[in-house]
Amino acid sequence: RTVYVNGEYLPEEDAKISIFDRGFLMADGVYEVTSVLGGKLLDFDGHSARLERSLKELDMAAPATGDELLAIHRELVARNDIVDGMIYLQVTRGSAGDRDFAFPDPAKTPSSLVLFTQSKPGLANNPAAKTGLKIITIDDIRWGRRDIKTVQLLYPSMGKMMAKKAGVDDAWMVEDGFVTEGTSNNAYIVKGNTIITRALSNDILHGITRAAVLRFAREAQMEVVERSFTVDEAKAADEAFITSASAFVMPVVEIDGAPIGTGTPGHVATRLREIYLDESLKTAI
Ligand code: PLP
Repeated sequence: RTVYVNGEYLPEEDAKISIFDRGFLMADGVYEVTSVLGGKLLDFDGHSARLERSLKELDMAAPATGDELLAIHRELVARNDIVDGMIYLQVTRGSAGDRDFAFPDPAKTPSSLVLFTQSKPGLANNPAAKTGLKIITIDDIRWGRRDIKTVQLLYPSMGKMMAKKAGVDDAWMVEDGFVTEGTSNNAYIVKGNTIITRALSNDILHGITRAAVLRFAREAQMEVVERSFTVDEAKAADEAFITSASAFVMPVVEIDGAPIGTGTPGHVATRLREIYLDESLKTAI
């Protein structure tokens, strides 16, 4: 596999980052994951805009322009023959050659930029969309700036492990009785014909797929309400689902052992998945 590191395309085994990089020492970095379908990038502009915002919120220097990032994404798709898959992009604050809590001067310490691809043939035909996901709920004990897409992913990883140990697919995180989001996705329920998902704030990641799905839902005259919901409300819902750049729209059929609705993927989630895939392929670049 050919990867990109700080201006160079290299075989993955030759790609190196300093042990003093603040991404490694302090999780001082941000990332994006963009899906590739049929060799094209989905929602690239959204991911690029969110990356810019994450960098700004953390006073981190942008390592490249949006156009340069697009060119790197395309080059990696071509060099690795990616038809369906993902591109992972990470920017870390680089290394000042030592460990220090204070940020180094960005003029002297450029940030590090790393990208790599993951091939996932048939990504859009994930069989889990037909059966749906089972999830558990866990406490949300993450920090207060979940709107910034940082590489501090230890708690989400622990959440996935809790789900695995419980014999299910994933976990939804809960704070003050209300669902925030999934370990790596946004969370939704459907009651009647209304799609309910938590409003944007610092409490959740502003999902790029979320923005697109809500826009398509409204265009299709579906009712959308952005508000918090409780675990009990989710268990009593007609449907539940998640969204993310790599899962698209994925039905949830069980929460903490309780079947949701009929315990099978609901028609709203199924329809939104089709609409999302159709519509975002039209604007894929
Ligand atoms: N929420 C969290 C915590 C995530 O990690 C992710 C994606 O990785 C999402 C939501 C979904 O965001 P997106 O649709 O931009 O992939």
